Amino acid sequence: MSKEKPVIISDIYNYLKFYNEYNKYPVYANEVKHIDGSFDLTETSDGKPDMIIAVEKPVYEMKKGKEEIVVEKPVSNYSAIIDFSHCDTLDKFYEEIKDCRKCSHLAETRNNLVFGYGNPSAEVVVVGEAPGAEEDKQGKPFVGRAGKLLTDILKAIEFDREDIFICNILKCRPPENRNPLPGEIMNCEPYLFKQLELIKPKMILALGTFAGQTLLKSKEPLGKLRGSFHEYNGIKLLVTYHPAALLRNPNWKKPTWEDVKLFRKEFDSMKK
Ligand code: URA
Repeated sequence: MSKEKPVIISDIYNYLKFYNEYNKYPVYANEVKHIDGSFDLTETSDGKPDMIIAVEKPVYEMKKGKEEIVVEKPVSNYSAIIDFSHCDTLDKFYEEIKDCRKCSHLAETRNNLVFGYGNPSAEVVVVGEAPGAEEDKQGKPFVGRAGKLLTDILKAIEFDREDIFICNILKCRPPENRNPLPGEIMNCEPYLFKQLELIKPKMILALGTFAGQTLLKSKEPLGKLRGSFHEYNGIKLLVTYHPAALLRNPNWKKPTWEDVKLFRKEFDSMKK
């Protein structure tokens, strides 16, 4: 595929989206980027931006009080118009998405899109949140401090990183390691879903709130999601604390250990 195709698809999408949804859905209302580059989530009382100005390129501006806000990115579901059915291997799929610019603000700041790493026929897929600085630099998931802890946790339950597949909800690093925005998750989750469709793992370990909530389409807090098995498209899924959270709060190590032991036990019983 030529390099330009994702950009052309994205442009067509933005045009269609604007004409179809302008004034109908508050899709730009809660995801705003300030002029200084910082982000926050806001909503006006009716859930719509005060004003949207369309300019020639798909960039939207609105005024909120005295502050000027540029809403740089439409946030919605691209999966309806992008067909990945011709990608029957992870390698082909990587080629398809490696130049993704759906979240143009992330595409501009990333060094690498972090697709995921590991065995393409893994029985276990581990899903994290988003690449950090080191992951962005190396183009591989979980290679920083949290990654080292993840490797140790996996070793403790006798999983080798090379045997499993590790990836994230977001493939691009959010600036300053901020939380993923809802629109970014919407843009990126079809990639994770396609990866899982291709890998067909027996079990999924979701690390942290964003991974758990995205895969389970749930708004429950992590405390409620963890500790017992769920299903994602017929695949057993367990949610536990994110290793970065364990670095911040060692009290969560014990419940995490309980979770991962449960994960291993279930894995072993499925093999019998
Ligand atoms: N945290 C994540 O969620 N993913 C990574 O790849 C690294 C840190």
